[in-house]
Amino acid sequence: MIERASLTKEGTDFRCGFVALVGKPNVGKSTLLNTIMGRKISIVTPKPQTTRNRILAVKNLENAQIIFLDTPGIHKPKIELNRRMVRMAFQAIGEADVVVVMVEANAPFEEEAKVIEEIEKITKPPILLINKIDLIRNKSELLPIIKEYDDRFNFAEIIPISALLADGIDRVMNEIIVRLPNSPPMFPEDMISDRAERFFVAELIREKIILKTKQEVPYSVAVDIEMWEESENLFRIGAIIYVEKESQKGIIIGKKGERLKEIGILARQDIEKLLGCKVYLELWVKVQPYWRRDPVALRRLGYEDI
Ligand code: GDP
Ligand code: MG
Repeated sequence: MIERASLTKEGTDFRCGFVALVGKPNVGKSTLLNTIMGRKISIVTPKPQTTRNRILAVKNLENAQIIFLDTPGIHKPKIELNRRMVRMAFQAIGEADVVVVMVEANAPFEEEAKVIEEIEKITKPPILLINKIDLIRNKSELLPIIKEYDDRFNFAEIIPISALLADGIDRVMNEIIVRLPNSPPMFPEDMISDRAERFFVAELIREKIILKTKQEVPYSVAVDIEMWEESENLFRIGAIIYVEKESQKGIIIGKKGERLKEIGILARQDIEKLLGCKVYLELWVKVQPYWRRDPVALRRLGYEDI
């Protein structure tokens, strides 16, 4: 739990608080966070379970500081890594002043409902965002979807949005702000996240691997930054890509190293944008059998238990 710091700001109507962004995997939570922040803070892929850690993002506005907690999607966990991921999501709900639940407009209602039932047990009525409305051609189809959620649950607000196209976001921000407590800001204004650059670099590499591999490989990958040297206008970064099996190592490296090279080029381009300077990126692939089930390996790779 993060304590309220004693930073002061003139004026009494300043609002500040924590907002947990929760929902099933793949509904668009990280996309919304990136849209609100105006930059990529959380990696996004078409595959579920892309977000593994709780990611904190600080949005500074004229009269408010909103501290978003992006969370891994809520699902039925089978192995230790996933159990930790789901616990993180529920912990964020417990810490939040405002809980925002996201569902997909096109998703089967009963599947979304199961997750909402879990959430409503532990928090006051959340704000519901029905995302991906850009995929609904006929807007009249939205009304019965909204009604279904409204009939079954008690939400503070129901807001249809498109996180991708930034549609409906102003209303989301307003509804969040009016529910935040009066409080001075808790973070300095130039701080947008509690994560260091290294974390974002490792995540960008992991994003490219997820995008370029299939089946179980994306889920079996962890990235650890091993070398980080800054010299004049150049960052030298070395990262180890951990997989669980020898066969996965082969897949990531590819024929004559082609896939690893491609992953490296894509990651380097994004890392250069992030750091604002030239980057020399070196990648190694190592097998760490069943790291996703091993508490010691999980801790070392940054997936702390909570
Ligand atoms: P998360 O697992 O909830 O964090 O979901 P992500 O933000 O990683 O998004 C999962 C996928 O849904 C990605 O392919 C996104 O591009 C896509 N997506 C997210 N928001 C929207 C949206 O508003 N419209 C459409 N069409 N796709 C979206
Ligand atoms: Mg995510």
